Amino acid sequence: MQYDIAVIGGGPAGVSAAITAASKGRKVILFEAHGFSPRLRSVAKISDYMGIPDVSGTELMDIFVKHLFQSGTDVVEEKIISLREVGEGFVLGTPTGDYTADAVVLATGISRSTLIPGEKEFLGKGVSYCALVDAPKFKHKRVAAIATVPDALNEIEYLADQVEQVFFFPRYQGFVPPKKKNITVVLDTPTEITGTDKVTGLRAGDDFYSVQAAFVFRASDPLNSFLPGLEIRGRSIYVDDQAETNIEGVFAGGDCTGQPWQVNRAAGQGQKAALSAIRYLGRRDEGINY
Ligand SMILES: Cc1cc2nc3c(=O)[nH]c(=O)nc-3n(C[C@H](O)[C@H](O)[C@H](O)COP(=O)(O)OP(=O)(O)OC[C@H]3O[C@@H](n4cnc5c(N)ncnc54)[C@H](O)[C@@H]3O)c2cc1C
Repeated sequence: MQYDIAVIGGGPAGVSAAITAASKGRKVILFEAHGFSPRLRSVAKISDYMGIPDVSGTELMDIFVKHLFQSGTDVVEEKIISLREVGEGFVLGTPTGDYTADAVVLATGISRSTLIPGEKEFLGKGVSYCALVDAPKFKHKRVAAIATVPDALNEIEYLADQVEQVFFFPRYQGFVPPKKKNITVVLDTPTEITGTDKVTGLRAGDDFYSVQAAFVFRASDPLNSFLPGLEIRGRSIYVDDQAETNIEGVFAGGDCTGQPWQVNRAAGQGQKAALSAIRYLGRRDEGINY
């Protein structure tokens, strides 16, 4: 199906964008990779959300998600790993398939952890954000897996089925050891991904691990990892006052566009991005030079 608007991210910003666009009669699809805002769900008590005082992050997010599912939006609980401009629209890739849309709203939140030295340099040269896509390239090899979210464990176990050995660096609380014998858990902090033209190792604590790949699992990947031409300023996606990015047809809202990192702002910005996307589609369909 060809969608009018694809929303990437199911936190407050993405849910708000999808509900807004669907309420205006647009065909909308939303992609969510990690159970609808692990960030907001981690908050024990929110006291500053208008009209709903003293609510937990999970309770608030559940209210948003219930509304999302009532809105007529198609929801795909998979991660977007690629976004390509094709003709006048976009093709969005998940590990299991492609989807097409005329406009895109980015609402991917912020990546709280800083990049590991070497991560940016070796992206696509041994550094990967998706085991489902890249694990088969490393059959019979040793790899590192660094995770800041517990739900990465399924992907790490899949990775272990494909490769010879996984050195697993859990970087979150409440860690439960995986059962597979070829997963070695290392509690030291990874400090550097090393290599020449591709990954050859990883340093953590005083040790060096000889690996051919480093898989990094976070709630939100570095902002332009799936859309390389996207303009980033500091730690945020650059948007103008209409929530437009530097790429025509791509809009953004929420924490991924900057501070303050707040639910109200994220929801408002998601709505603005959706309304701008609708305006863009309307002008484009009428042949007005945008
Ligand atoms: C400890 C803490 C306390 C806080 N307290 C408050 C408070 O009291 N009041 C308040 O207003 N705010 C508070 N916040 C901030 C609030 O949680 C954020 O501002 C809000 O969640 C931002 O919403 P968002 O939709 O922009 O991003 P997020 O909520 O981070 O959602 C982004 C979503 O995008 C998904 N995603 C990312 N990449 C992809 C991809 N490639 N494909 C598919 N899905 C993807 C992620 O899984 C995530 O669900 C707090 C945050 C923290 C961490």
